Amino acid sequence: MNSPEARLVAPAAKPRVIPRAEHTISRSHVSPNALRVLYRLKDGGFQAFLVGGCVRDLLLGMEPKDFDVATDALPDQVKRLFRNCRLVGRRFRLAHVFFGQEIIEVATFRAATAPSQGEEPLADADPEDGEAPELDEPELGSEAAGAAARGGPEAAGDTAELADEAGAGVGEAARDRAFARADRPPPGDDSERMFDHTGRILRDNVYGTIDEDVWRRDFTANSLYYNIADFSIWDYVGGVEDITARRLRLIGDPETRFREDPVRMLRAARFEAKLGFGIDPQTAEPIGRLRELLGGVPPARLFDEMLKLFLTGHGARSLEVLRRRGLLGQLLPNVDAYLAAHSGGLVERLLMKGLENTDARAVAGRPVTPTFLLALLLYGPIAQIIESMPPERWHEIAAIAEACERAVRQAQAHLTIPRRFSLGVTEMFSLQPRLEHPSGRRALRLLTHPRFRAAYDLLLLRSELGLASPEMAQWWTRVQEVPQEEQGSMADALVQKAGPRPERPRTGRRRRRGRRGPRAS
Ligand code: ATP
Ligand code: MG
Repeated sequence: MNSPEARLVAPAAKPRVIPRAEHTISRSHVSPNALRVLYRLKDGGFQAFLVGGCVRDLLLGMEPKDFDVATDALPDQVKRLFRNCRLVGRRFRLAHVFFGQEIIEVATFRAATAPSQGEEPLADADPEDGEAPELDEPELGSEAAGAAARGGPEAAGDTAELADEAGAGVGEAARDRAFARADRPPPGDDSERMFDHTGRILRDNVYGTIDEDVWRRDFTANSLYYNIADFSIWDYVGGVEDITARRLRLIGDPETRFREDPVRMLRAARFEAKLGFGIDPQTAEPIGRLRELLGGVPPARLFDEMLKLFLTGHGARSLEVLRRRGLLGQLLPNVDAYLAAHSGGLVERLLMKGLENTDARAVAGRPVTPTFLLALLLYGPIAQIIESMPPERWHEIAAIAEACERAVRQAQAHLTIPRRFSLGVTEMFSLQPRLEHPSGRRALRLLTHPRFRAAYDLLLLRSELGLASPEMAQWWTRVQEVPQEEQGSMADALVQKAGPRPERPRTGRRRRRGRRGPRAS
């Protein structure tokens, strides 16, 4: 069927059924809510399978991030079975079944075959013409930011896959409006697939059988179905074998599949980083040629993908894979250019250390934030802009804020950064000189600043790398630990020790960085 030597992976007409006795997936590792959904569908007379990443992760002995269900029940039939259910998705309806914090996503099997050679592509719609459609989906561009950060289910693939269909959260971007418009089905027409001139899927709207559903999945490792009827695994594509060999292979012709949805290139990088799988050479080959197609993906969706790459426990490895595969430039061109020009330098070390800390937090289930992540990623570009200003401006809060805004603007070449996160970055950087040169008791007010914690964490990181004074970082650590009465005397002692403040507060950071040179490698 699908030996590794086979040129392309084509799903078999019938699955290889692996009985319960021959695999390791146990119901005790499946979310009880997912089991409830599966059993209710089955008892309603429908087929019900776990599918995708959760089956892959269970086979790998990992804890799945979310549980996705595939069924032959139509969305309305699913809705009738569950009170706690909401249909989402404009073009392709999905059911979300809610259990408190947990959402189980139930997708009806989709018939999606690769476009045939002669299929006439659609021209892009005129970006000046038309407006965004009304949305009936959660705002993925912004909500999924938090969700991805929490590893929450809104960030799950089938929904995220539809982010561009909704054109959500990107009202200001003309090209997204164009996509959204091109994507809007004519009334009464809900049964077509549409592609743009690059081969990108604009609409994918046909319900089908499980044999057809497998075609629209991306990697063989993500295309296994766990059948609740008899606890067997259905494998159409040699996915079990590929998981054992820790290999990522796209189903179908890789170039076509990447053209249909260029985000699959980022997904490949994410799974390489997350699972430590190798990308099969045939799957990897077109990435170098096609990566620029990511420029045509709605910016809100790229932002969501970026969060999944960096905030779900494998950010340091994601950075390495993205750079090696030439994909970082498609997400954050200024970060890529900075790192390329200062390879192995202090900023790269700060970034890697920061990502490792973030990974450890994510793995431990502690909160991680897009703001802190962006501050890490943009550290080099921000420092570079500040250092391009006259040295007498390096300590000015206004100059720091301006540099942050310029770096964020550059970073938005391909993706959108929601304003609340970019404002947070500016605040974090603007707080650095105030933390490095606390002005007596007034400085204690910073402890209640909403961005204090993030700014303090950045100060710690900078001090670890010699980019800020370790004594000041320790002072802020201590002042948070002592009772309130002692905080005042700590602040007084600091003023006495420092003597009168210089007329202009120096930014030790910038001057020191300037002297040492940020390019130290
Ligand atoms: P994880 O949840 O660990 O990030 P996952 O494989 O479950 O990984 P999701 O984004 O949750 O990824 O998507 C669920 C499933 O939906 C995938 O396993 C895959 O079968 C399918 N899928 C998601 N996105 C795409 C895509 N862009 N193209 C094709 N199939 C996709
Ligand atoms: Mg998933």
